[in-house]
Amino acid sequence: MPRVWLPSSLSTLFVLLAALVLPACSTNPTTGRSQFNAMSREEEIALGTQAKPELIKEYGGEVARADLRAYITEVGMRLVATTAEDDPSLTSLPWEFTLLDSPVINAFALPGGKVFMSRGLASKMTNEAQLAAVLGHEVGHVTARHVNDRFARQMGSQLGIGIVSIFLGADLSGAQNLVGIALMSYDREQELESDALGMRYMARAGYNPLGTKQVMEILAREAGGRGGSEIMSTHPLPESRVKRAQQLLESEYSFTQGNPQYKLGEQEFQARFLSKLAAAYPEGRPENVREQMLATAVVGCVAGCQDCLR
Ligand SMILES: [Zn+2]
Repeated sequence: MPRVWLPSSLSTLFVLLAALVLPACSTNPTTGRSQFNAMSREEEIALGTQAKPELIKEYGGEVARADLRAYITEVGMRLVATTAEDDPSLTSLPWEFTLLDSPVINAFALPGGKVFMSRGLASKMTNEAQLAAVLGHEVGHVTARHVNDRFARQMGSQLGIGIVSIFLGADLSGAQNLVGIALMSYDREQELESDALGMRYMARAGYNPLGTKQVMEILAREAGGRGGSEIMSTHPLPESRVKRAQQLLESEYSFTQGNPQYKLGEQEFQARFLSKLAAAYPEGRPENVREQMLATAVVGCVAGCQDCLR
């Protein structure tokens, strides 16, 4: 009896369809780069929408406090509004900013406009510009369509093998896993491109793009500590990113430095977010000490699994 193949997940389906249809290249108005369309925008949205609940579950749910979640959304949407200057259609994506109830230090994005940040990462920041830097960077992964590029590359190198294995009904794992897509690491060029886009959105929204360099330095410090930091496995190369951010601050964004129109927003961040977050998750509480230890364990696991997610 012939074997009937059914897609085990939406991602399986779109990899198959994309490979069969072989769609054309187009220029991304945000980056100016020509891209091979491995996924349509509709497929990106469907993928992000489907994977979001899985990802939230994986990270222990959303932070319960609505005011903290609303604050993240407010800053995120302020950045999203500026993406229209490159491509007006981007603001119509179903953008959502999720604050995860996890002590792990990480942030990531799914195609189609779903952005996630852990409270562990948020608690390390000292101003709103740093928050905008992280959210803007993740928005940049979406607008630059980096997951599409990863799939396009994979299709180019493994087209034959990939399609054969799909038809054989082999379960796609690793990068094809929905949550794996959010947790996969990007390459150096993609990271630098997202940093630059984040700085672009920040400056347009009135934030000091110095926040990008600051948050990178915070992350580099965290990575040097006990157990490292998960964000380093999904967003590698902090040193070259700090250097590039500094170059952009001295060139393209020199007009923002020392200019009060471009704010860091320390007091606002402290009053509207950090003080409330600290009250909700006080350090030293027994359960929080325990979860900190768990976070370290999770970091080790995820970092170790990164190779199989590529
Ligand atoms: Zn990144």
